[in-house]
Amino acid sequence: MITRMSSLFLRTLREDPADAEVPSHRLLVRAGYVRRVAPGGFSWLPLGLRVLRNVERVVREEMDAMGAQEIQFPALLPREPYEVTGRWTEYGPNIFRLKDRKGADYLLGPTHEELFALTVKGEYSSYKDFPVTLYQVQTKYRDEARPRAGILRGREFLMKDSYSFDLDDEGLARSYAAHRDTYIRIFDRLGLKYVIVSAMSGAMGGSASEEFLAEAEHGEDTFVRSTDSDYAANVEAVITPAPPAQSTSDKPDAQVHHTPGTPTIAGLVDFLNTARLGRTFTAADTLKNVLLKVRQPGAKDTTLLAVGLPGDREVDLKRLEAALEPAEVALLEEADFAANSFLVKGYIGPGALAANGVRYLVDPRVVTGSAWVTGADKADHHVVDLVCGRDFTPDGTIEAAEVREGDASPDGNGTLVAARGIEIGHIFQLGRKYADAFGLDALGPDSKPIRITMGSYGVGVSRLVAVIAEQSNDARGLIWPRAVAPADVHLVIAGKDDTVRAGAERLAAELDAAGVQVILDDRTVSPGVKFADAELVGVPTIVVVGRGLANGVVEVKDRASGERADVPVDEVVAHLVGLVNS
Ligand code: ATP
Ligand code: MG
Repeated sequence: MITRMSSLFLRTLREDPADAEVPSHRLLVRAGYVRRVAPGGFSWLPLGLRVLRNVERVVREEMDAMGAQEIQFPALLPREPYEVTGRWTEYGPNIFRLKDRKGADYLLGPTHEELFALTVKGEYSSYKDFPVTLYQVQTKYRDEARPRAGILRGREFLMKDSYSFDLDDEGLARSYAAHRDTYIRIFDRLGLKYVIVSAMSGAMGGSASEEFLAEAEHGEDTFVRSTDSDYAANVEAVITPAPPAQSTSDKPDAQVHHTPGTPTIAGLVDFLNTARLGRTFTAADTLKNVLLKVRQPGAKDTTLLAVGLPGDREVDLKRLEAALEPAEVALLEEADFAANSFLVKGYIGPGALAANGVRYLVDPRVVTGSAWVTGADKADHHVVDLVCGRDFTPDGTIEAAEVREGDASPDGNGTLVAARGIEIGHIFQLGRKYADAFGLDALGPDSKPIRITMGSYGVGVSRLVAVIAEQSNDARGLIWPRAVAPADVHLVIAGKDDTVRAGAERLAAELDAAGVQVILDDRTVSPGVKFADAELVGVPTIVVVGRGLANGVVEVKDRASGERADVPVDEVVAHLVGLVNS
């Protein structure tokens, strides 16, 4: 196909859009790939739509190759199935809800576990029908709190979602592994740099789950990796290695000390170290108790939760939220302290929490037998040598403390370093949550029902366009990998005379006949403008037909490396076909 720039529905911009926060957004708008319609809502112009379709094609080919079958659901969905699983409530403000003319509730699907489970229940009934994997490539809607960075985080976006249905856990593990392999093939074909990290399961509830994160400086996800092994994990999923439990009997008795004016950890540590207690203290010896209010989905009231962690660490709200999901959580405000007078701010200890029935979860480092300096529930007082398991008993542990570079890797090899990424895919062993909700069973060989177990797997198809752009660009514009580029060759006519124009037209026609997709810049603008647009648009090979034609050569330039070569006119078609197929 030959696409003529003279008639292509494309206007490139010289200026960056004012709202663009990241390179991909800036470049996709400037190069005329997408246009903003609303927060998190974008239209795809011709070149953008081609790239999107190319990404979609790669995803579809690999899904089909793994034996998944494509179906398609509406995006406009009735409330009832989401009511059955509780997600109508759990999603809170994160989904778009609407009413039809009769007042019935609908939502715009954010993900489709319910519908897939119901559909399989409707069609299949025997163990002989299973396993089965179904998928769709479909527009999803989420009322994201922070739509950002153009199509990276939209409120309407294209997702490939697939769901596996198996008779037993081994089957689910196989389906999961097949998806993992397929995702590796997809992202490799798209030329992405990415890591696979273990992830939290989030609102969906279940067990094994991994995320594919594209490495990106401007990514929203922070992940950690080990210096010495292939361990990598989402920060939310890092399991703190707990030190071994200790004996409680060989510890000195707990002692309350008057520690005037020490509501902060730093102030407390200074005070202790000048108080001549016979040893030195660091912030890590103190136990800081952070008070939160937690609202369960659909609940009107909040309940108090206390999190105890070593005083040298802050609470990481994202980790805390992930640990408590789907409940919502917020730090206590002054009014809340006022309403709970047993909480002596700056001096809160496990004693008052237990006495007042406040749930108390501690960092995994707070093991049985560990001794702490913590609040004595009295202004200007702390207690030293309060021993876990002897003087207080937490209700459990929670992963809420910040993860820091230099922390020991949970797999025991090396230490952690942090990096940023963008989630491009998510694979997830759901288990029987949805099958339980809908009673999805298969009749076994003995006529007894077998509860089906599910997996759910997503790829952000539209997001991938931005992620590829994010990983592959330079100061002059986009640089598409061949697999998704909007054309194979960007052919620039650089000269006004008829022989140049005729030579370029002939070359374009020959390339087209050879199956090469050509963008032909046949406009009457200056060569400088054409070159700048060609670099901005980012087709992998730029061919310039100009003055060299008189000497029987055209220039072939590699967009990524910038390397140029003069190629004889009668060899250029074969040369370019070779490049395209390489
Ligand atoms: P994120 O943490 O980025 O919000 P998620 O955990 O909500 O992602 P999933 O529900 O697992 O994502 O959705 C599957 C895939 O869909 C994600 O891996 C991501 O690539 C893509 N995706 C999710 N939300 C958006 C969005 N708002 N815009 C574009 N793509 C998205
Ligand atoms: Mg999300």
